[in-house]
Amino acid sequence: MFANKYRKRLVSVSDKKGCFVCYKSSNTVLVNEVPSSDFFYVCASHLTDKGFAIELAQPAEPLPPKLPLKPSETEKETMAKEIAALKTEWDRVKGVKEEEKALVPKEPSPPPLATPTGPVYYELNAHIFKLRIDARKRLTQEKKTRQVLAVQAFPSVPNHTPMDTNPPSA
Ligand SMILES: [Zn+2]
Repeated sequence: MFANKYRKRLVSVSDKKGCFVCYKSSNTVLVNEVPSSDFFYVCASHLTDKGFAIELAQPAEPLPPKLPLKPSETEKETMAKEIAALKTEWDRVKGVKEEEKALVPKEPSPPPLATPTGPVYYELNAHIFKLRIDARKRLTQEKKTRQVLAVQAFPSVPNHTPMDTNPPSA
């Protein structure tokens, strides 16, 4: 059996097939992480539905070292002194007094959200996963049936000696 972990893949538009849920053609495929175990086409919209599947978290990246939440009073004082020093320097260099806002240290902007570049995995809702298992079992069964029928439809060359040949006499 296969695991409830599917990787999202996109195929070319010309390879669109019917969605497992609503039969609309879609070029999004969920491929089971167990090779050649299961896959199915599904609309991208269903993947945003928590009742259908949940996106598995990406492997966590190392967190940046934690900054102290609040600068201590001493640090504030030091910072104020540094800012004042900068301001004086700035005024001296620029010869302008009014550009105070340029001296206010900017709020550090948050790092841009990491865009998921790696593979995206989904865990199907338990009920949906059960449907997949059933569907896969049925497909396997149908394949077996077809093979049996194919064998019956095209009789193979007899692989045993015809019964009417006389055994060699001893
Ligand atoms: Zn659909």
